[in-house]
Amino acid sequence: MIQKKMAYIITYGCQMNKYDSDVISRILKTNGYNLTDDEECASFILINTCSIRKHAEDKVLSKLGELVCRKKNDKDLRIVVCGCMAQRLGNKLVHRFPEIDFVLGTSMIAELPNILNENEESSLSTTFIKGKKVYTEESSCIYPVTSIHEKGLKSFVAVILGCDNYCSYCIVPYVRGKPRSREKIEIIREIELLVKAGRKEITLLGQNILAYGRDINESFDGLLRDIHSIDGLMRIRFLTSHPRDITKDLIELFPELPKICEHFHLPVQSGSDHVLRLMGRGYTVEHYKQIIKEIRKKYPCPSITTDLIAGFPGETENDFNDTIELIKEIGFDTAFCFKYSPREGTPACKFQDQLPEEEKNRRLKELLDVQKAISLQINQAMVGTIQEVLLDEKNPKKAAPLAEAVSLTWAAPSVDESSLLGRTRGDKVVIVPAKNHRVGDIGIVRVVEANNWSLRGVFVNE
Ligand code: SF4
Repeated sequence: MIQKKMAYIITYGCQMNKYDSDVISRILKTNGYNLTDDEECASFILINTCSIRKHAEDKVLSKLGELVCRKKNDKDLRIVVCGCMAQRLGNKLVHRFPEIDFVLGTSMIAELPNILNENEESSLSTTFIKGKKVYTEESSCIYPVTSIHEKGLKSFVAVILGCDNYCSYCIVPYVRGKPRSREKIEIIREIELLVKAGRKEITLLGQNILAYGRDINESFDGLLRDIHSIDGLMRIRFLTSHPRDITKDLIELFPELPKICEHFHLPVQSGSDHVLRLMGRGYTVEHYKQIIKEIRKKYPCPSITTDLIAGFPGETENDFNDTIELIKEIGFDTAFCFKYSPREGTPACKFQDQLPEEEKNRRLKELLDVQKAISLQINQAMVGTIQEVLLDEKNPKKAAPLAEAVSLTWAAPSVDESSLLGRTRGDKVVIVPAKNHRVGDIGIVRVVEANNWSLRGVFVNE
C-alpha cells in the first residue's frame, strides 16, 4: 500500500547531482517527507537529471514514460523533475509529459520548501505550462544549509555552481549558469554540521572549482585553509580543477595542509593541441605536462587522474595517437573516458567532420585498453608500499557496477564477507581483512596484491 509523503529520489549524472540530491533529501525530510529506497512505496518521485550526454537524457525520458503509466492508476503520485535536463528542457518536458507536477531548475533548490508548502508569500518567478509550474529562474541563495539526517563517512559539498569557460562541447554553462560562489561562512557551517554527523572526508565540488571566490572577493586557497582548521575533519578532496587555472601556489599548499589528499583530478580531454583548440580548452599539451612536472617535483607519488574524450569532431588519426602517447607518457592512475556526444546548442555540435559512431567506439575502446594496462602497472608498483586507508564500508561481495559510459572507475571484485573496503589518500580502493577493524577507522596498510581496479592490503603491525 502506498504511504503518503514517502519520497523517492532518482539521481543521474555527476557528483554535483549527487550532492543536489543529498540537499533535496534533507529539505524533504525537514518538510515532513520520509525517504524510501522502494520506489513502489513512494507517493512523491523526484528525478534529478543529467544533460551531459544524450544517453543520460534518453534514460530520463524512458523513466518518465514509465512513471506516467503508473500515474494513470495512481492519481496521488507526484512526479517532479529537477537538474540539468529540467533547466534545459523544462517547458518541453511538461508539454511532452503533462503528468509532471513541477519542474525545478538547477538554481532553484533553495526554494524547494516554498514550493512544497505552496507558500503564497513567496515571490518565486514561475512559468506555467499546461497548468504546471516550471521554476527555472535564478534564486539568490544557491544552497540552503540544512540539518544533516543521514549517516555516513564521506560527503560532497558544493562550493561554486556554474561555469563560464564555454568549452565548445559542453552543455554545463547553459544549464548551470555563470559561476556563483557560496559564501564561505555557509560552506564552513555545512561542513561543521557534516563532521558533527560523523563525516571524516569531504569532497568540495564545483564545475570549475578553482574559480571559487572570484565573484565574492574570496580565494580558493583561503577556503581550503579555513576548512582545514575544522576539528574532526580528516580528509579533504576537491573536484574539478581546470588545468588552465591550477597554480604553483595551490600545488605548494598541499604539504602545508596535510588533510588535503594528494589526488589531482585534472581533465586533459585530448593530447593534441589541434583538438584542444577546437575544444576551446585554453591550454596546450605542453602547459599540461608542465603542471604534472610541478606536481611530481613536489610529491613523490601523487595520484593523477583525468577525463578524456574520444572522437571529437575533427580529431584526426594523428590527433588520436597524440592522446594515446600522452596518456602513456603521463601515466594516469585512472582515466574517465567517454566518446564525444553532440549536445544541441553547443558550438561543437555544428562542427564539420563529425566522426562516425563506429570510429568513436573504436577510439574509445583503444583508450580504455591502453589506460587499463597503465592502471595495472601503476597499481602493481604499489605492492609493498604503506598506505593510509579510510575504511568506508563492508565489502558488498559483488563487483561495483562501472559508471555510465564505460569509465575506468574503481570497482571492487568479489571477496569474502570478512573484509572491508577502504580508500587510500590517492582514492584507490583497498580490500583489507575486517579482523579487529571497523568501518570509519583509518588504518595503516601494506599493499600485498594489485589488479587494475583495486589493491589488497594487510594492516601493518597485526
Ligand atoms: S570547464 Fe568544464 S564545466 Fe566548464 S565548460 Fe569546460 S568542460 Fe564544461
